[in-house]
Amino acid sequence: MSLEDLYREVILDHYRNPRHHRRLESPDAEAEGQNPLCGDEVLVQLGFAGDSIAEVGITGQGCSISQASASMMGDAILGKDLEQVDSLTRKFKAMMSIDEGEEDPTDPDRPGAVLGDLEALQGVRKFPVRIKCADLPWTTLAEALDGRR
Ligand code: ZN
Repeated sequence: MSLEDLYREVILDHYRNPRHHRRLESPDAEAEGQNPLCGDEVLVQLGFAGDSIAEVGITGQGCSISQASASMMGDAILGKDLEQVDSLTRKFKAMMSIDEGEEDPTDPDRPGAVLGDLEALQGVRKFPVRIKCADLPWTTLAEALDGRR
């Protein structure tokens, strides 16, 4: 199985079985995001324990890239504090903005190294229109965090 096939499998698995797919009854923060170019929608809801994300609820609809990215993001941010979430966000954006070539999967310093399943989204870089799909949950997360009361 090629790396590309493996990444495709990971994306489809998250799309078909989205993690954290539920609505929180009383979220501490939430935001709704839309990507009109593709018709993607995502609602990100967060529950905090101190400064850490203790609960994640993600619902929405749209293409496999946007929904898989949202599911992977939920896995990645659960239990993390704000500083860690900030660092993850920066690493994800760095991974998605590498213009040339694939990352070397054996390089421990590559941005994708700490991202878990999210690393599977790096193939999307080749399709600039889809980068907005992959970015949508993260942009929405940032809005939710900004609006946290
Ligand atoms: Zn999309």
